[in-house]
Amino acid sequence: MKRGSFPGRLRSGVPLVLDGAMGTALMGRGMPPGECPEALNLSHPGWIAEAHRGHLEAGADLLTSNTFGASPLKLAPHGLDSRAEEINLRAVDILREAAAGRAWLAGSIGPSGRLLLPHGDMEPVEVRDSFRRQAGALARAGVDAFIVETATDLAEALLALEACRETDPAIPVLVTLTFDEGPRGFCTLMGQTAGDCAGALERAGADAVGSNCGVGIDGMVPIIRRMREATALPLIVQPNAGLPVQDLENWTYPQTPEFFEEWAPLLLGAGVTLIGGCCGTTPDHIRALRRAVDGRAAG
Ligand SMILES: [Zn+2]
Repeated sequence: MKRGSFPGRLRSGVPLVLDGAMGTALMGRGMPPGECPEALNLSHPGWIAEAHRGHLEAGADLLTSNTFGASPLKLAPHGLDSRAEEINLRAVDILREAAAGRAWLAGSIGPSGRLLLPHGDMEPVEVRDSFRRQAGALARAGVDAFIVETATDLAEALLALEACRETDPAIPVLVTLTFDEGPRGFCTLMGQTAGDCAGALERAGADAVGSNCGVGIDGMVPIIRRMREATALPLIVQPNAGLPVQDLENWTYPQTPEFFEEWAPLLLGAGVTLIGGCCGTTPDHIRALRRAVDGRAAG
């Protein structure tokens, strides 16, 4: 199936299914704990391709590159910062081949792993330059969209958005933050509310905003409602399969694909148009979201 332009589809408001967890898929394939997942683009491209194909076959419309931690700042502790361009280019090549023209390609950009002044030691310009190097490589590799994910500080998300915009203003930028519930409602680690984040990202030129990680699919409902009040942009959710529970030696995620299928209509009804999964989700969760989206379109 040949797909049209991604910006056109995003504007149409027709829901899109995103993919699920890459980390979970790679651990299942034998990635050792502590390994840099992005180094696997060079050493184990077959694992990455298999994970993408699992999500494609489950019905995802938009697949995400294995570049979450491939900004130079985040690669630096692994001694791989000088190879950032190569890692990002390779990751998108693997993704493009796996997608086989049947899904759009999103370039994932995760947090730098460093804290901005005054909480940490990073000048905003250093963080933006790191994101700019990553966004530049992803754009050269031909992604259809950037997805800035799992942001825990609105200020850093805005720097990543700015870096993407400067790299190529024609490539849509989707931004998702991670929220925890506290006394002031759902806030980022830095204390910014879901509504404030959505409004600020819209003003800064994001094409879609939302939330990923942190909570399960049921926990996303109040976050999305706050965001819907603050912005008219397309909304994205990528929930975890619930909060991990430790059972003997393994961490497991309690929310089943059936639970996802049951809750997805509520999120779609609350205005979500891009829906996928984060930690603990499997291709079966994505298949469940596909059924929910298609069932809604048919009904
Ligand atoms: Zn996650």
